[in-house]
Amino acid sequence: MTYGKLTAMWNDPIEKKPLFHWNPGSYTFSISSAGCNFKCPWCQNWSISQRTVEETSNVELSPEEVVKYAKSYGAPSISYTYNEPLIWFEFILDTMKLARANGIKNVLVTNGFINEEPLKELLTYLDAANVDVKAFKEETYRKVIKGRLDVVLRNLEIMSKAGVHLETTYLVVPGLNDDAEEVRSLARWQVEHLGQFTPLHITRFYPQYKYTHVDATPVSTLERLREEALKEGLKYVYLGNVTGHPAEHTYCHNCGKLLIRRWGFSIVEWNLTDDMKCKFCGASIPVRGKYWKTGSYEGLIV
Ligand SMILES: [Zn+2]
Repeated sequence: MTYGKLTAMWNDPIEKKPLFHWNPGSYTFSISSAGCNFKCPWCQNWSISQRTVEETSNVELSPEEVVKYAKSYGAPSISYTYNEPLIWFEFILDTMKLARANGIKNVLVTNGFINEEPLKELLTYLDAANVDVKAFKEETYRKVIKGRLDVVLRNLEIMSKAGVHLETTYLVVPGLNDDAEEVRSLARWQVEHLGQFTPLHITRFYPQYKYTHVDATPVSTLERLREEALKEGLKYVYLGNVTGHPAEHTYCHNCGKLLIRRWGFSIVEWNLTDDMKCKFCGASIPVRGKYWKTGSYEGLIV
């Protein structure tokens, strides 16, 4: 029902996904459809994710047209994003194949909830993903989100083993998943199963959708949780939705010096060599792809 029906297309900075360690500074042609397999009551994209395709305004495009648009914008990748792309399976698979054949890479911004067999079909064409871990308690997934944590974690491991570039996002909702032990458990799991260099984005909640009775996450909570995640051994832990915060920057895991300074989704300082080594101490930094040095943000909405 949703095949080829787009609710949005936008040429976004890759940092918006967020992917901080993959082709930094590049644009990614970003598309979405309607619907989701989860029911997060705080969804920031609820107007497309918690609606059916009959309720949204759509533009119909073929995979060929999506790839043509991506090329016309000079985007080296296409991101399947905004609503849950895995429920748009047939369309993203067809588009991914065509993109790959045209030298364009594929990015998923996803909740990671899919069966093993279809995930493996996508893996052949998937280059990078940001996966939301919405809580680190099975009960929260079952009761509030209407999903399953065990499936998401299994899929993260499958993607990691297949060599997909992975980053994770943890949105901190006050009173729901802001417990320090929960974040420590996630960090420990991530170190053990995805590796200490897999970036974690701890992001700030703002009142949205059905969660307007909860205040925005205090910045001090985010900072405390970031410290906890670092203490568990993760080397790259970022804060998101807090423009201008020093935890938006990348610091060398070896010498601690500032390597990439960001302002929102823009890169304003770059201290890595062309082969992604720290300019100060020479350590290899886990950033894949190349630095695109593009300018500011531009895009279009349908
Ligand atoms: Zn260094």
